[in-house]
Amino acid sequence: LAQKSAAHPLEETVKKLISSGLYPMPHVFENGAEPSVIINGKEYLLFASNNYLGLTHHPKVIAAAKDALDKYGTGTGASRLIAGTFEIHKILEAKIAKLKGNEDCVLFPSGYATNVGVISSFLSPLNLFGEKIAKSIVFSDEFNHASIIDGCRASNAEVVVYKHTDLKDLEEKLEKFMNADLRGLIVTDGIFSMDGDIAPLPGIAELAKKHHCTMMVDEAHSTGVLGVKGAGTVEHFNLKGQIELDMGTCSKALGANGGYIVTNKYLANYFRIAARSYMFSTSLNPVSTAAIIAGLDVVQEEPNLRARLIQNGDKLRSGLKRLGFNTLTSVTQIIPILFGSDSKAIAASKLFFEAGIIAPNVRWPAVPRNSSRIRLVVMSQHTPEQIDRLLNVSESVGKKLGII
Ligand code: PMP
Repeated sequence: LAQKSAAHPLEETVKKLISSGLYPMPHVFENGAEPSVIINGKEYLLFASNNYLGLTHHPKVIAAAKDALDKYGTGTGASRLIAGTFEIHKILEAKIAKLKGNEDCVLFPSGYATNVGVISSFLSPLNLFGEKIAKSIVFSDEFNHASIIDGCRASNAEVVVYKHTDLKDLEEKLEKFMNADLRGLIVTDGIFSMDGDIAPLPGIAELAKKHHCTMMVDEAHSTGVLGVKGAGTVEHFNLKGQIELDMGTCSKALGANGGYIVTNKYLANYFRIAARSYMFSTSLNPVSTAAIIAGLDVVQEEPNLRARLIQNGDKLRSGLKRLGFNTLTSVTQIIPILFGSDSKAIAASKLFFEAGIIAPNVRWPAVPRNSSRIRLVVMSQHTPEQIDRLLNVSESVGKKLGII
């Protein structure tokens, strides 16, 4: 008789997570990323989308996407270097480079692919001829996005993690680990995705200069949001043209998907033949590409969208603070409510849902252990009444779970 084989160890972990209620079960929306979403025919208020300016449903963006669909069809059919470079990719790259104030831009299929491809190839111990070059070292904020962490890991370079936004710790680590034989990179999120605070870019840029390191900023959550023209945290701090590697995504305020790196023309050309996630992945969908081109125009034509986003963030954050919640260091459209334990954060999401609000919890590994939270995100389209409703529900959830 054949012996019954033991369950695979990975199957065991999944079963354990499901039975303990810790397995994440995303809601399934019957419409798009709008302030109100439909689940099983019922309407819920959504406070969790990175569609910050509502561009996924902007008439100009939709019209551009439909035109592109008619003209180019549904896909590109190849990676950029083979046969997947369309004129709209070049138009979009030029437009992003201009907004960001540097020479060139390279589009990737996603923000995740951008960080992994750019960071790993920048830090590579080999040049394009396969010859050894100076070793690299990367200094990375402890709360940087997972895609930055994965880029660092894929590079096999030495990774030094500094305390979150802590310039003193960064300086001490630069003094300890950086030297003239190394190629140094300092990398930080612009707006941090789970905390909603802003990196101290001027101080980091000064340290980068002093220690001869290249600097990289991830503007995923700040492009289209911060700065006079919506170019991001680099513009917010008047550092345009001074940050060598300006990375971002088109998946959030720009309302589509895709990622990019803006840099000088030599590094851009380097990434085009060294970043594996660029070379070996099909190029950005033409429909998305056209939507982003139109979305960038809307960002310039309708600065009121950015202003409303910031107002909405301020209203929600100040209301939560007044109620006694800990919103950590948030100053932007991303507003966490700290719950601490996984079980409380999960219970909070359920209570919000029962009250008709989508307010996801985020837990390790997205945030450090014991800092589980509800991550609220506002959009320009949320009305003051909708934010008031969220505040009322937050108060009752917070009281029920004993955190206020
Ligand atoms: N960087 C940051 C800071 C992010 O928050 C995200 C997305 N969550 C990414 C990169 C990855 O971008 P994408 O979703 O476009 O792959």
